[in-house]
Amino acid sequence: MRKDNPNMRALKLLHSFCPSYFPLMVLNSFFGRVSPYFNLYLSAEIVNEIVGSRNKDTLITLVLITVIGNFAIAIMGGILNRAFGHKETLLYQREAVCYNKKTLGLDYDNLENTEVRQLRRKIVESSRINFHGKQLLLMSVGRLVNITISAILALILGIEMFVLMFASGFSWLIILLACLIVGLVAFNVWYSFREKDKMGAVYRNVSQTMIDENRIDEAIDCYNMGKDVRLYRQDKLIMKIKNYAFDLHKKAFRTMESKRYKINMPLTFTGILLEAIIYVFVCVYALLGTFGIGSIVKYVGFVETITGCITSYFAVFADIKYNTPFVEDYLAYFDIPQKMYQGSLTVEKRDDNEYYVEFEDVSFKYPGSDTYALRHVNMKFKVGEKLAVVGMNGSGKTTFIKLMCRLYDPTEGEILLNGVNIKKYDYDEYLAVFSVVFQDFKLFSFSLGENVASGADYDVDKVMGSLHQSGFGERLATMPEGIKTTLYKDFDENGVEVSGGEAQKIALARALYKDSPFIILDEPTAALDPIAEYEIYSKFNEIVGDKTAIYISHRLSSCRFCDKIAVFDNGQIVQRGSHDELVADESGKYYELWHAQAQYYTESQGA
Ligand code: ADP
Repeated sequence: MRKDNPNMRALKLLHSFCPSYFPLMVLNSFFGRVSPYFNLYLSAEIVNEIVGSRNKDTLITLVLITVIGNFAIAIMGGILNRAFGHKETLLYQREAVCYNKKTLGLDYDNLENTEVRQLRRKIVESSRINFHGKQLLLMSVGRLVNITISAILALILGIEMFVLMFASGFSWLIILLACLIVGLVAFNVWYSFREKDKMGAVYRNVSQTMIDENRIDEAIDCYNMGKDVRLYRQDKLIMKIKNYAFDLHKKAFRTMESKRYKINMPLTFTGILLEAIIYVFVCVYALLGTFGIGSIVKYVGFVETITGCITSYFAVFADIKYNTPFVEDYLAYFDIPQKMYQGSLTVEKRDDNEYYVEFEDVSFKYPGSDTYALRHVNMKFKVGEKLAVVGMNGSGKTTFIKLMCRLYDPTEGEILLNGVNIKKYDYDEYLAVFSVVFQDFKLFSFSLGENVASGADYDVDKVMGSLHQSGFGERLATMPEGIKTTLYKDFDENGVEVSGGEAQKIALARALYKDSPFIILDEPTAALDPIAEYEIYSKFNEIVGDKTAIYISHRLSSCRFCDKIAVFDNGQIVQRGSHDELVADESGKYYELWHAQAQYYTESQGA
């Protein structure tokens, strides 16, 4: 099968974002280029008329055509330039939307995947250096259009010159001129291609050094890290790494600049040589009487433009060639497949919330990992049941939840919802069954209401109710703009900074607002003070109502109100039962964990 040219594919993709962009580019380019040729042609005619027959009427007509023509070209040029600028903005805007949608729609494992993250960085950084990738491709197409239009316009001027030259009979002079032009242009083309190909590797190196340097900037910039940086004096370490990365970047940048200089020098030299040769030839022909004095400027302009166009054509193709790997990176991002099978079954809407989820011998390895994070997990949730999931760090609790929410698919085994493999359901509908507060939840720097409702249009009463239920009511009363208050100061200087515990309450309110039949809380009270924690637990049953609730907790004492407890160890469920049953089994993991914590509390109380 023939592989599609990446540049053509990228152009088709960009064209689909704004179909009128390329036609407007051509029109805009025509009106932007035509003026000098128009003037060159008419000024030559005027000079020839003055030097020649000096007809007054002809002269007035020529001057009028020049003035009115320039006026019309300027108006059209201005209108088209504005329209093209507008389309250009639109194209980049739509492209950004599509790119972001791609990122938001990536399978979760790709989002975490280091290669995918590196690819994304590479695309961003490359476009910062000389706009490599889609921008350079678009700019190159723009230049090709400009060159083509200039060449066509120049040819229209130049045909006359060839006719006159051949008619004069000094054909050996034309052959000599043509050989010199072809020789010099061929040298330029060969040289540009050879050197620009090498430049591709140099540019890629610069972009990698920029990626590394910017990654350190992100660490410096991130205010979440500010406390640790200050207390552990990590500034010196960071600056050492930063300086090292900067030195590498500086070196790569210098190599790039000196290479560019070396490439451009011979090209400038051949350009000047070409111009001198053309002047000599055209002047010789003028002296031989082949054409009038006024035409010298016109014909020199023509030959210069044509040779310039040929050289530029190849220079642009050389740019496109070395830019191709950057375009391939860009396309590779769009080509990242949606591996996760997404079914089309609708999830039955049930007022009685009768949703059964079942794990059938589920095992799971993270992509790229050889070890199982979960092994042979079997679990059936009874509707309305309150299940606590406990276990040591790394025992597989969060992975269990991630699988349940289909952020990953099991490596082996099946997960069923009401008896049907969850892969067969429409993904969005399946996700609507769960409200989750992850341990590492994130709130956005949007308004409180938007955060709780996860949308711009929301039910104010429901947002307020959820916030009160999650224990955020008192803090809400102190907020100047209530639920319209912006969280954090990233986008709004009047934004409010909330504490870790307050943020956790907001995240809980978000889960309550979603009002799904399953509510999953991963360490829901880790950042809460003991009183807030007590409040949440004491009204936990009221908060979750008849929903099926799963919550992961390190604090075993807080699991007691759950109907059932599942104990994870090393990726497996090693015990399950009520608190009383589990604590009675002295050989069990739960007993060990319970007594380890109880001992800690007793000792601290005794101290
Ligand atoms: P817990 O929630 O019980 O602390 P996790 O489910 O987060 O444990 O982790 C279970 C195991 O899976 C651990 O060994 C952890 O290192 C590994 N793990 C977790 N997330 C990833 C990931 N994204 N890629 C690879 N391994 C992971």
